Amino acid sequence: MTFTNGVASPSKASPPALPNGDSALLASSTGAPTAAPVHAFATRAIHVGSEPELSSSSGVSTPLDFSTTYRQTRVGSHKGFEYSRSANPTRLAYERLVASLEGADAALAAALAAQGLDGDAAAAFEAGPAGVAFSSGSAATATVIQALAGHQGHIVSVGDVYGGTSRYQLKVAGPLQDVQTTFVDMSYSTQGDAGDVESEEEQDRAIVERVEQAIRPETKLIMVESPTNPCLSLVPIRLIASVARKHGVYLVVDSTFANPYLQQALSLGADVVIASSTKYISGHSDVVGGLLATGNPSILSKVRFLQNAHGAVPSPFDAWLLIRSIKTLALRTRQHSLNALAVARFLDSHASAASVSGGGGLVRDVRYPGLKRARETPAQRRERHLAWDQLSDEAKRWLVREGYGRDSEGGFPCGGMVAFHIRSDAPASQSETGTAERFLEKLQVFTLAESLGGVESLAELPLSMTHGGVDPAHRAKLGIDGELVRLSVGVEDIDDLLHDLETALKAAVQPAN
Ligand SMILES: *Cc1c(COP(=O)(O)O)cnc(C)c1O
Repeated sequence: MTFTNGVASPSKASPPALPNGDSALLASSTGAPTAAPVHAFATRAIHVGSEPELSSSSGVSTPLDFSTTYRQTRVGSHKGFEYSRSANPTRLAYERLVASLEGADAALAAALAAQGLDGDAAAAFEAGPAGVAFSSGSAATATVIQALAGHQGHIVSVGDVYGGTSRYQLKVAGPLQDVQTTFVDMSYSTQGDAGDVESEEEQDRAIVERVEQAIRPETKLIMVESPTNPCLSLVPIRLIASVARKHGVYLVVDSTFANPYLQQALSLGADVVIASSTKYISGHSDVVGGLLATGNPSILSKVRFLQNAHGAVPSPFDAWLLIRSIKTLALRTRQHSLNALAVARFLDSHASAASVSGGGGLVRDVRYPGLKRARETPAQRRERHLAWDQLSDEAKRWLVREGYGRDSEGGFPCGGMVAFHIRSDAPASQSETGTAERFLEKLQVFTLAESLGGVESLAELPLSMTHGGVDPAHRAKLGIDGELVRLSVGVEDIDDLLHDLETALKAAVQPAN
């Protein structure tokens, strides 16, 4: 039995090669009977890359192959593995899994079929699975910029990009590749109250105009993240993809904050999806890793070449841990999301409540893309609708089964990250952090730490921690100030999490009590 999202996977260890495509997905999308059963995300997450055929003892866990080199029976005659930096059986199993979960294997098969290379010809495609593993998310970012921006190219990047990404764009690609980067605001939420008077078409047009104004003749790619860090703004990926197509440039989406259970960036129109697997993919705060997936054969060849040339590959053990982690990705993501929505609602109730001292609640405002506030601005409603629209079909099916819809009272679960401004005497300050720091120090179940996506709940102060290196004027524009707290909501008991937040909030905001 092979486990497939429409493209049968290889039934035994094989050299880096395309899963032998029987194009079932193409058939299913045209309504024709499918040749292979199409399996859902949670099923593929458990079985792709863990086929018992990979193991000489038919074990149900992927064999962990530590060999750096492989015997050749005659010169050049081997089982597809020569040297482990270039290809390793455990990493290959992980890469097939990534390709399957991001829908990149199906996209690659379709692209090859469109070039007249289906079936056996596609199987001969030498670039390997449509998922590529790296030793960190930063290595995936560096590789995609090297592969696509080339020399003297230009990047249009979303403004609130991950700090390590803007560091690479400005301090590495800039001086070493002579690549310029222009940062553009691509979200609805920052349109603020202007959303009151603008129609949805006008809101879209405003974003398209900002992106098009930044595009130059030498622009090679648009890079976005959605949701963004730390303010959890959303980028309308389909809209940006249409701009990218119109101008003949590639769209790269960093999906780290979402993960493929919630967001299928390729199906939203991205050419390439990258992520730090250190976060939700690993899920246990014990592996640093990165991934890239693409259905574009020429991008895949370039990236695969650079992966081998740079050698920034994960160890077989890290690949094995990630395969093990992904088996619970769907389960974890559902619980992270349910807990995070409960946290967002709880904080929002404190944002609307009047405090004892009379100056409003303990919380100034809450950011969670699926949150439906009692009173929301048109821009907030637009972003909530976008959050629903950009969820994967599988995530939507889960939510509908659980009784949630796009306009559910209180909102719908859609990821584990929440940000909020705690109410202090120094709103919007770029230096005063006393109240937020008191809150963070009072927490017992949430751990004060950077990073995100693990089963344990974390809390941090972006101003001084993850975003300490960002230009203060840019931070102020994004709303990153001394009141902003970012939470990575884990999968602990929700009552313990809410009790922890409530206790710390009260102690921080009303220190006398
Ligand atoms: C963490 C992170 C990265 C970098 O990944 P590393 O694995 O730490 O190198 C890139 N993008 C986003 C959005 C991240 O959160």
